[in-house]
Amino acid sequence: MTEIFNFDEKIHLYNKYSKESLVNEIFPEEYNLLLWHVNSECNFKCDFCNAQKTKAGHIYRTPQEIESAFRRTERKWFIFISSLGEPFLYPKFLEILSVLTKNNYIALNTNLTQKTVYELPKYVDINKVLAIHAAYHVIELEKIKSLNAKQEFIKKVHFLEDNNIEVIVSYIAYPPLLNRIKDDFEYLKSNGLNKIMAKPFVGVYENKVYPNAYTKEQWQMIQKISTSINSVDFLDMPDSFTGRICDAGNRSFFLNQKGILFRCGSSEVKLADFFNIEGFVFPLKVKPCECTKHNCKFECVMNSKNVKQSLWAKILNHV
Ligand code: SF4
Ligand code: SF4
Repeated sequence: MTEIFNFDEKIHLYNKYSKESLVNEIFPEEYNLLLWHVNSECNFKCDFCNAQKTKAGHIYRTPQEIESAFRRTERKWFIFISSLGEPFLYPKFLEILSVLTKNNYIALNTNLTQKTVYELPKYVDINKVLAIHAAYHVIELEKIKSLNAKQEFIKKVHFLEDNNIEVIVSYIAYPPLLNRIKDDFEYLKSNGLNKIMAKPFVGVYENKVYPNAYTKEQWQMIQKISTSINSVDFLDMPDSFTGRICDAGNRSFFLNQKGILFRCGSSEVKLADFFNIEGFVFPLKVKPCECTKHNCKFECVMNSKNVKQSLWAKILNHV
């Protein structure tokens, strides 16, 4: 991801008062960004996750349907498959990645539990896989009694890296795990994993709202043990994005597991049925953010621009 689009570097230089959006700065004009929740089916039951536990309401598409839909957009895409569930459970997922990587770049989140992970290099153009975010859900892995699931996770990371795929291991710093997180990181590091990041938990635990409820020491510990950081998690954010001019719906989109296209994951305004798009022309126009909730910090940071800086903030920033 870093090398092709200078993704990490640009996020690192993020200026919340910038007139330009990061999505415009990072991606060449012919590319759009798509966050795609391909499914919401998962084999894990992490306490902090709302992934649906049933297949109800899923609409599975064939690789051919998916390839045609992307071709009809007449755009190239950087597709971030950030499922609400486990994407490798999607039928013919490898074939889907195969067709997607013909003309587009992809990155994806997975819990790395499925054996089909080992087939990945046979199906995809490795150069188009910018990164795999491998979620290490230690409590769920420890529930699997039949095999050493933690060692199997590590084996898969090494396998992907041996096939020149960048893997970033993520670990949700869920409050009940804070007393073991250092030991878990040591275990991963001692097994040769060198890109591991603790991700701040976003949500409510024991009536406290996180990430704000982390103590200063906990924040420092989360950053210190991480050998790879998702800069967005630690950015100094604007108070609100509502009303800001935003490239979501112009350069960047969100596709849900039913195939409905939105400008972003926080918007409730449907733009189109992505798999039956007729007369929909990309890109659209930039518009102010009309969302009252901002569910995904990453999307807002990538897309919003031109925030009004108060006179007082300007003075402080130039002291
Ligand atoms: S593995 Fe991911 S999608 Fe599945 S329950 Fe855990 S956090 Fe949710
Ligand atoms: S919620 Fe975020 S990404 Fe969506 S329109 Fe508002 S600022 Fe843009």
